[in-house]
Amino acid sequence: MSRDWAAYETEIQVRTAAFAFLDSLVTRLGGIVRYEDVAQFEYMGDRMSLLDPQRGIRKPRQLGAALSIRTVHSPDPYTRPYADDIGTDGYLRYKWRGTDPNHPDNRALRDAMTLQLPLIWFQGVGPGAYVPIYPVWLAAEEALQHEFVVALNEAQVADWNASGRRQVAEESARYEPGIVNQRLHQPVFRARVILAYERQCALCRLRHVELLDAAHIRGDAEGGQPVIPNGIAMCKIHHAAFDTNIIGVRPDYVVQVRGDVLDETDGPVLTHALQELHGARLHLPAAAAARPDTQLLEERYTRFLRAS
Ligand SMILES: [Zn+2]
Repeated sequence: MSRDWAAYETEIQVRTAAFAFLDSLVTRLGGIVRYEDVAQFEYMGDRMSLLDPQRGIRKPRQLGAALSIRTVHSPDPYTRPYADDIGTDGYLRYKWRGTDPNHPDNRALRDAMTLQLPLIWFQGVGPGAYVPIYPVWLAAEEALQHEFVVALNEAQVADWNASGRRQVAEESARYEPGIVNQRLHQPVFRARVILAYERQCALCRLRHVELLDAAHIRGDAEGGQPVIPNGIAMCKIHHAAFDTNIIGVRPDYVVQVRGDVLDETDGPVLTHALQELHGARLHLPAAAAARPDTQLLEERYTRFLRAS
């Protein structure tokens, strides 16, 4: 694509509108979107789906460069943390379509890279369910590996360009995994756990995805992996109660409420949201592989008992 300024303006405006559209969608749906949702996007009265259900790279006919990329959900999401490739340099990669550098889809990605246009990365988290990660940029192309280097912020693009080499990027890798964890792995973990629990709190069955979290059994800071067996879907209040040891979960999936909280007298929220959970069983995912790891629960429950 030659540097046609009117076309460039359109590329920027469409992206700005698409990100605003996604912002409201993400708020309304609690972060997990479907193809039907993102297909509703319109620009100047023109329907322009943000995602192509048949292919990984999406370039609407109104644009010259790619607008989004997609990673399909992992067939083994319980134990395999991510389908993405993180180089030792801390940068993510996205594969070409096939091996032909001149395939129109690969050229559309190259144009997005050359013009430094932000893209949307749809991460598959379940059949037809995605977490949109945006904006992301393509920092470079690795033709021998048939892939592009993905940057999660403009600093990563600048770092890559400043070095022009992998070595300098490797030196900065110390802080890069933090970005990947925060922008990619944690949102994907949250969505996978919520879907495994059929979009409800494992303690009270609240079904508002906007109010649901994935509680870590072994915390992120203690080396807990963002995989489904290390998570439990919980509403905001139960997540906070679990994190502050007001609530504990025994390795046999029975909920315990801390003694002093059981003895309190207060209004209906204390009674129904906390005290009545004592002795209840978690509402578990149907798939055994998606249930909480009992060893991790035991480790966590020991800490709950110490806090009691
Ligand atoms: Zn709850």
